[in-house]
Amino acid sequence: MPIINRIAEFHDDMKTWRQHLHANPELGFDCFETAAFVRQRLEEFGVDEIHDGIAQTGLVAIINGQGEGPTIGLRADMDALPIQEARDLPYKSKIDGKMHACGHDGHTSMLLGAARYLAETRNFKGRVALIFQPAEEGGAGGDAMCKEGIMERFEVGQVYGIHNFPGMPFGFMGGRAGPLLAAADEFQINITGQGGHAAMPNTTVDSVMIAVQIAQALQTIVSRNLDPVDNAVLSITRIETGTSHNIVPASAFMQGTVRTMKVETRDMIVTRMRAIVEQVAAALGGSAELNYDYGYPATVNHPRETAFALDVARSVAGEALVSDEVPPSMGAEDFAYMLERRPGAYLCLGTGEGAGLHHPEFDFNDEASPIGASYFVKLVETAQPLS
Ligand SMILES: [Zn+2]
Ligand SMILES: [Zn+2]
Repeated sequence: MPIINRIAEFHDDMKTWRQHLHANPELGFDCFETAAFVRQRLEEFGVDEIHDGIAQTGLVAIINGQGEGPTIGLRADMDALPIQEARDLPYKSKIDGKMHACGHDGHTSMLLGAARYLAETRNFKGRVALIFQPAEEGGAGGDAMCKEGIMERFEVGQVYGIHNFPGMPFGFMGGRAGPLLAAADEFQINITGQGGHAAMPNTTVDSVMIAVQIAQALQTIVSRNLDPVDNAVLSITRIETGTSHNIVPASAFMQGTVRTMKVETRDMIVTRMRAIVEQVAAALGGSAELNYDYGYPATVNHPRETAFALDVARSVAGEALVSDEVPPSMGAEDFAYMLERRPGAYLCLGTGEGAGLHHPEFDFNDEASPIGASYFVKLVETAQPLS
């Protein structure tokens, strides 16, 4: 049972919705027009309830099945990116400096496609909660919706999401139990030395040298402190200091990112960073302070729900195109917050050749929409069957 026939019939509609969203991108929590568009479609489909204005522009729609049963959550993200679109598509972004470069336009139209079918057929018991979230790209809109209580209010028992992946074979679906994507944190380091004449270093505390030594010592955390079978990234991406060849600068600034798969690893890295930053600076006669900003947690798939999701994926994509061992990536995803609150799974959907995610030439592959929509529908009908 690959693509559901009825869904294949409105493939063109999904394409039209997607291209409309593509032409009208919105950023972060400011998904007002997008949410209004989603709301209009959901009203046309005759869903039972629409709750909007959650985390500013998020929506949850409810479709009642036949008879009592649990509620399954399906999630799509709606926000675009601050990128200037490079291609001259017929439906190219109408807004300078903004584009759907991560395919969230496609995720939204796939979930709309599933909503239309589910509202029409209702071949399931219990309820479906369709979650349309703003601000996936850094704003933690999914977390904000959870903090506004959507999981409790709509009694969501389990939750599922997918992401399109150009570069993976078309129609491929994959995931893995456990961590799939990393926790993504940022840090800043402010170094204070003692400025002075570069010809008289003995009268200064050189913040350049402190920055260099801290940068080197921080690289020993992943190479020397981390369990070698675990994974982490610590990248210093910016060092700023100094104004001239003859001045020892009084201060320096550093910035970077840390990516981890496990909470214990994240804690260990922060502890080691703080010790190195403070003590290396002190050893060289200055001082330094670490500001560590916790970003999205790791996206950790729940084993039982992941096995279930992959079984459903096999029924849609076919055995040969499904993998339960997709290698983890150090990218991050806001859906992580939903998986911290409810069991569920996040799968990748291959969309074949094309520019990568966040690339100015990216365009969601509309041919993948019936696969994603069929997967969402089959999750519901399989998890909450009528008989
Ligand atoms: Zn993205
Ligand atoms: Zn994305």
